[in-house]
Amino acid sequence: MLLKNTTSIILNPASIESVDIRIHNSNIVDKGKNLTLKKGEDVHDLAGRIVMPGLVNSHTHLYSALARGMAGPKEPAQNFLEILQKVWWKLDRALDEDSIYYSALVGAIDAVRCGTTTLIDHHASPKSITGSLDIIKEAMWEIGLRGVLCYEVTDRGGKKERDKGLDENERFIKDNRKNSQFRGMVGAHAAFTMSNETLRLCGEMASKYKVGAHIHVAEDKADITDAEENYRCSVVDRLEEHGILRRDSILVHGVHLCAKELEKVRSAKSWIIHNPRSNMNNRVGYAPLHLFGERAGLGTDGFPADMFEESKIGFYKRQDSHETENVSMTQLLQNGQQLISEIYNHKFGTLEKGSAADLVILDYQPPTPMTIENLAGHFLFGMNSSMVESVMIDGKWVVKNRVLIGFDVESVYEKSKKVAKNLWEKMKKIS
Ligand SMILES: [Zn+2]
Repeated sequence: MLLKNTTSIILNPASIESVDIRIHNSNIVDKGKNLTLKKGEDVHDLAGRIVMPGLVNSHTHLYSALARGMAGPKEPAQNFLEILQKVWWKLDRALDEDSIYYSALVGAIDAVRCGTTTLIDHHASPKSITGSLDIIKEAMWEIGLRGVLCYEVTDRGGKKERDKGLDENERFIKDNRKNSQFRGMVGAHAAFTMSNETLRLCGEMASKYKVGAHIHVAEDKADITDAEENYRCSVVDRLEEHGILRRDSILVHGVHLCAKELEKVRSAKSWIIHNPRSNMNNRVGYAPLHLFGERAGLGTDGFPADMFEESKIGFYKRQDSHETENVSMTQLLQNGQQLISEIYNHKFGTLEKGSAADLVILDYQPPTPMTIENLAGHFLFGMNSSMVESVMIDGKWVVKNRVLIGFDVESVYEKSKKVAKNLWEKMKKIS
């Protein structure tokens, strides 16, 4: 396939080129000016439209997709722990196969419509653990999205649930080791709901299969206090001691980590993911982004996978926080490409030969000069997800001219409304 007359952009380091792009099977095979059409090749003239690599959401929870519009708890949550207890731990306990499937489908539709082509998901459904990751995989596969999946291991439901969670991770990791669209990680909730033994079992599994752990860290002060009061050490020390602080691990939030702990995370080269909308919504505080280092990415933590919006809100929050550090949201967003390049052991996030053909075509017409110096400004103040016109994943069109290929969104939403209603009713019965 040949994409003619593109304005190809990379957000960070910024580049803008007027080129043609050739795609064969799953990859970009050529890029240059005036490429000649080969016999039998499909040609698409983009008339100068923006082409950029598909966006990566480095941390999310698809299971929260059916919570949109759900009533809050009768007694409003007073703090972060109460938000978990009164909302999310009830919702995950109410999930069954039907609601896992429809939440994944609805979240996946949101993602591709916003130009997000890979989700790194963190799943929990304590009453339906075994096979849950396959249900999510099936929904994402139907849409055509890439996914790095895991099940969140925790001790909050007792040993039986914990062991089922561990088994689900292991099964999924083994089944998808060579899959080009899906990969598994070792999911873990957060250190404050995990015993030393459970953390160690997760660390050992990660080491055995040479994959990372995916865990929430210091989202709220409760995680810090728990480690100090119950284990006489810092939360990062606990992760290190039990083999979670690995190069391929994903630590999420890090809002309350101190400089010393973040130094440890940086030297272990673990990834750390910033989730500005979620942090603001849960009032957990402002993350010390300037100490996150080079291996930091951007996630939505259950908000729809609109990385344009996440970047903008992260940018405004940073401006408003009166911090002097100059952390770039487009850099964080672009770093997600490096993260998945390591996970899939393949090149993502470039438009060079050999890179995965995960692309977004954007109908954005800059009303002012657009240069490599001000590209981030155009991204943050001009481009948005409603301009996403077409999306390609793994060399295949998933969205073409704003239509999801081969997919009846209306009938999915008809069904998902009913499934969501049942889910909300079920939650009311959980104490
Ligand atoms: Zn999360």
